[in-house]
Order: sequence, then structure tokens, then C-alpha cells
Amino acid sequence: MTVRLRPHHLLCILTYVGKGYSPGFTANMTRIAGRLSAGEEVEIVAGPDDICIPLLTDPDPHCHRTSVTGRDKAAARELSLSLNLRIKTGAKLVLDADLLSRLRKAFASNRVRSACTGCEWIELCGSMSARRFDGAVLTTGLLRPNRHIE
Ligand code: SF4
Repeated sequence: MTVRLRPHHLLCILTYVGKGYSPGFTANMTRIAGRLSAGEEVEIVAGPDDICIPLLTDPDPHCHRTSVTGRDKAAARELSLSLNLRIKTGAKLVLDADLLSRLRKAFASNRVRSACTGCEWIELCGSMSARRFDGAVLTTGLLRPNRHIE
């Protein structure tokens, strides 16, 4: 199986500590973090992804808004430039120990956080970063060889 993620969710998953919009949302995101921790592959998608699914039955899900697609563009651009990744639709990657460490270092240094501007979770994510992601649900369950982008 592959976990479908929109670009800015590569950031959100780094700091996820079990809090979110609803119990259904957090249950789903916790399952996804577990799958990623176990080494499941990510496929980058445009628009709503597997994390968005519980919100898509809302009357006006924010997942389709231009402000959110703007977050995707910012995250894709900064992650690609800062980490020399190709974050674009259809790209595949595995969040192994090395890549997760690089992502978290970039997040902590504020090099890839333009996507966070105006987000309601920015304080929580900042505090997670400040405490070195202690308590984050996403871990490196598998130490895989360097297989980042296909
Ligand atoms: S501040 Fe918002 S966009 Fe940034 S990582 Fe946290 S939840 Fe995601």
C-alpha cells in the first residue's frame, strides 16, 4: 500500500502529536503515521490526500481552498530546494530514518515553514519543533537503506 500525501502534509506529519480537527481525523492520521513509521511508501498527490479523507464529507472542507493549495506549493518548493528532493505530483519516497531526520532539521531551522504561515496549529507545531519532536507519533520504525525518491 502507498500513503497518498499532499506536499504540505509532509510537514504536518513531522509534528503530529495526536491532536487535530476531530476524533475521526486524529484516528485516521494516527493510523497513517503508524503506516509511515512502518516504512510504507508515500506518493505525492495534488489536492486532498489520505489525511484529508475524514474532512471531505464536511459541507465546505477547507482541503479544497486555494489557501491550502498555496501551502502545498510553498512546501513543495522549499522541500525540493532545501533538501534536494523532487516533491511533485507522482513522486514517491520513504520516510526512513535519514530522510525523517533531514526533514525535521529543516523544519526546526525554519527553512521549510512558509507553508505554515497563518495555520491555526502553528504554535503547537513550533513547540513540537522546539522540543525536538518529543512525543511525535511519527517515528522511524524501520532503518531502511537510502531509498528516498523514485
Ligand atoms: S503549522 Fe500547520 S501547516 Fe505547518 S506543520 Fe503545523 S499543521 Fe502543518
